[in-house]
Amino acid sequence: GEPVVNSAKCIGCQKCVKICPATALEMYFTPEERKILDELAAQGDPVEEEIDPEAAALAEKLAAYRGVWVFIEQTEGEPVRVSWELLGVGKELAAKLGVELCAMVIGENVEHLCREAFAYGARKAYLVDAPVFKHYRTESYVEACCHLIAKYKPEVILMGATGMGRDLAGAVATRVSTGLTADCTGLDIDGKRNLMQTRPAFGGNIMATIMCDKFRPQMATVRPNVMPMPEHTGSTAGEIVREEFSVPEANIFTKVIEIIRDAKSKSHVDIAGADFIVSGGRGVMAPENFAMLQELADELCGVVGASRSAVDAGWMPQERQVGQTGKTVRPKIYIACGISGAIQHLVGMQDSDVVIAINRDRNAPIFEVATYGIVGDLFQIVPMLTEQIRDLKL
Ligand code: FAD
Repeated sequence: GEPVVNSAKCIGCQKCVKICPATALEMYFTPEERKILDELAAQGDPVEEEIDPEAAALAEKLAAYRGVWVFIEQTEGEPVRVSWELLGVGKELAAKLGVELCAMVIGENVEHLCREAFAYGARKAYLVDAPVFKHYRTESYVEACCHLIAKYKPEVILMGATGMGRDLAGAVATRVSTGLTADCTGLDIDGKRNLMQTRPAFGGNIMATIMCDKFRPQMATVRPNVMPMPEHTGSTAGEIVREEFSVPEANIFTKVIEIIRDAKSKSHVDIAGADFIVSGGRGVMAPENFAMLQELADELCGVVGASRSAVDAGWMPQERQVGQTGKTVRPKIYIACGISGAIQHLVGMQDSDVVIAINRDRNAPIFEVATYGIVGDLFQIVPMLTEQIRDLKL
């Protein structure tokens, strides 16, 4: 119903306007009221300046947290590239906040990853190195993370939106009672040291900027390939803070008995790491027509990707899907064949260095993100491109 203002109690402080989460309130004053308020302000009346003890306590709580941390994900000592991508964006955030960029390294025999992290911009690394952390297990890693958070109080923690990162970030955020924004596509800092976490919402129809302004640390995950890879400086100097921390094996219910590598993984095509991708959409019309895209991809030493429509039609496996519910890719060249360019597809490929779009509809939205657009029938154009590249090689 209509909001009711209790005019006997309202002092015109406008606090309600400031805290309304939907910015739905406005306050109007009559010229007489405005005059009185101006006079009070001139006398230094504390109406506006009133110190709110709750706000002061909150500010004090938040101020105890400082520093930007990146979780360095690894499997058997092998780092995952997204961790370095996060150090790239983390460095910008740390500079804006005027704090140190730190790496959080957990595992067994993983000290070398601290030095790698320094080369990608970290100044300090918190290292928890013990046999119990040899394999990733939620329970032990959560314990290690929460121990470090309680002791060193970082204000921002970034993790890759990988299987491990998603699992760990959710569990840690729950344990330390803070907020977590998954799959961010943009990160920035506002005027009050809050992390502005931008991600697609409502099926990609809007970009929402999410804040966690009452709790610390502020936690976010980012998918691989969303942030650019920072430069490897070659300098491995930095401070390693070794934490003597472990978890008794008996306290961990999960046991890793054996690691069996998926036989499929040998034939698995990693579109996320590819430099050249030829993607097909509904315009490719049939599964056998993807052979034509494969020929072009082979000439470029690239791989074949697909839109969700092509995947849903059963023409391509899900692991080849590019987009919001597929993979984010950042190749040197992305060739979109018979793909209209729905926002959910664009968010997965628009950061490619060069986008070449082939579509017979000149108004297709894919042309808005294309570096080169070819309006025409893909069944004529794709074989012509393949031929041209073959000729160039001869
Ligand atoms: P269409 O939109 O049907 O486009 C086909 C295009 O081919 C048309 O532009 C047409 O002009 C062109 N064409 C036809 N024949 C030819 C020809 N002979 N030569 C040249 N051009 C031709 N989509 C994704 O791709 N990835 C995602 O991760 C994803 N996630 C989603 C998540 C949600 C929550 C939702 C709601 C949707 C998602 N979608 C995703 C689906 C997305 O909205 C689109 O439906 C989809 O991307 C369309 O695929 P398409 O471009 O292949 O097909």
